[in-house]
Amino acid sequence: MEYPKVFKEVINHFTLLPGIGNKGAERMVYKLLELDQESLVAFGKALIDLKDSIKYCQVCGQLSDQDICPICQDNDRDQKTICIVESPKDVFAMEKIKEYKGTYHVLHGTISMMDGKTIDDLNIASLMKRLNDPVDEIIIATNPTREGETTALFLAKFLSKYNVKVSRIANGLPIGSQLDYADEMTILKSLEGRKDMY
Ligand SMILES: [Zn+2]
Repeated sequence: MEYPKVFKEVINHFTLLPGIGNKGAERMVYKLLELDQESLVAFGKALIDLKDSIKYCQVCGQLSDQDICPICQDNDRDQKTICIVESPKDVFAMEKIKEYKGTYHVLHGTISMMDGKTIDDLNIASLMKRLNDPVDEIIIATNPTREGETTALFLAKFLSKYNVKVSRIANGLPIGSQLDYADEMTILKSLEGRKDMY
């Protein structure tokens, strides 16, 4: 017997998510059916609001529900230190260690020869704007993958035009790994052990 059409439809939506196969999606739909109508409506509304209310910080590119994210607005943070990461997920990973007191800049991707992505496809224009103000240090925290390393080298070359210290997080992260999967101690070690690029 086939699932009712609407049941099947919700399953199909869940299978769009990473790590969710058919079986997992089925379990989720059964679970949803156990919820009361009010919770389901709230769930649906949160999904509808997600795209509408999430924007990217005009300064650093991080996910936010405000034009300028809380980190860029926070005067207790060192606004003269910028940690460059690939994606919004990496900011949340770094924030978990609670040691880093600077700001971030989210590239929204990496340079990739294979995909034909160059530095111009990244969130660089707003970084250049930030460099009009004095900056003490830029920490490049792209992932230790081939694309992440290529991007780090390009950035270092690009930033050499500016009067700013540039460092790269240490190799505490295993080659090919991703910042957002690393545990807090590993992230902390790689941040503390960062090396000057020039
Ligand atoms: Zn920001």
